[in-house]
Amino acid sequence: MTILVTGGAGYIGSHTLLYLKQKNESFVVLDSLQTGHRKAVEGTTFYEGDLADADLLDKIFTENEISAVIHFAADSLVGESMKDPLKYYENNVIGSYQLIKKAVEHEVKKFVFSSTAATYGEPESVPITEDFPTIPTNPYGETKLAIEKMLKWADAAYGLKSICLRYFNAAGADPEGSIGEDHQPESHLIPIVLQVALGQREHVSMFGDDYPTEDGTCIRDYIHVLDLAQAHYLALQRLEGEGVSGVYNLGNGNGFSVKQVIETCKAVTGIDIKSLTAPRRTGDPAVLIASSNKARTELGWNPDYSRLDTMVTHAWNWHRNHPNGYDD
Ligand code: UDP
Repeated sequence: MTILVTGGAGYIGSHTLLYLKQKNESFVVLDSLQTGHRKAVEGTTFYEGDLADADLLDKIFTENEISAVIHFAADSLVGESMKDPLKYYENNVIGSYQLIKKAVEHEVKKFVFSSTAATYGEPESVPITEDFPTIPTNPYGETKLAIEKMLKWADAAYGLKSICLRYFNAAGADPEGSIGEDHQPESHLIPIVLQVALGQREHVSMFGDDYPTEDGTCIRDYIHVLDLAQAHYLALQRLEGEGVSGVYNLGNGNGFSVKQVIETCKAVTGIDIKSLTAPRRTGDPAVLIASSNKARTELGWNPDYSRLDTMVTHAWNWHRNHPNGYDD
């Protein structure tokens, strides 16, 4: 079995490649390198190109006898999606449409999709289970939900079995420090705080300190990127075994506030990190915490690195040794 991994040069994609390698799975990678990194796919069978390129997809499916797809490739910035929603409809929805169409044409039956907690929008309570209403509050979440629905109907009509994994906040890096998170520009909390520790930023802005939480800052459910990778592997196994489509949350079931994250980064780095209170960021729910019981029970998912200080330690290893990311 050869797996096509789209977006394998990105943060979560590259860690999944590492995990698949450890499991001796055979895979090829498609990435446009718009946000991914060539160095993250060194030594793999790599195709540079776009999801919307039907000829390239035909070539990949034919040359490699692909029997499963893991689909990461997407634009994934909430703020950007609010400013330029059509970019998200084009790259995420139309790109995925082409990929799904080609998967069906080439008689692929297994598809794992990288979805997001942003499909839920503002939940009325936590922890969030998979049967909560999906009312996205931004085009990013909306486009991911549209792709989930495309996959649902593709299963009903063509028998393409799919598992959609709704991630909460991916964090950490390969403990060996060979790959890690490198976004330009960076918008995520943990790498930003670590950039302050490295002296690359003067301070971190805490977006809002008047939320209805214990310390007033937003609470998120952080999950180690290699635990996400494990879930993709298990999802493929379930598709091979049970062959049943499904949607699964991936989170720790534990929430940490922005202030707690900053304190953990201070403790791990031993550096006094300056933080300032800033206005709320539009569209940020106060608390997002997942129930991942379904993934644990049905996929047999068992996270290895659920402690926040472990995630920060692994992220710090990467950022300290690669202060300029893959450019180092
Ligand atoms: N956050 C912050 N300052 C930053 C970046 C993020 O206070 O410079 C907050 C953000 O408002 C959210 C949390 O940190 O409550 C996690 O944000 P991130 O962008 O990492 O992930 P998201 O939850 O948006 O997927």
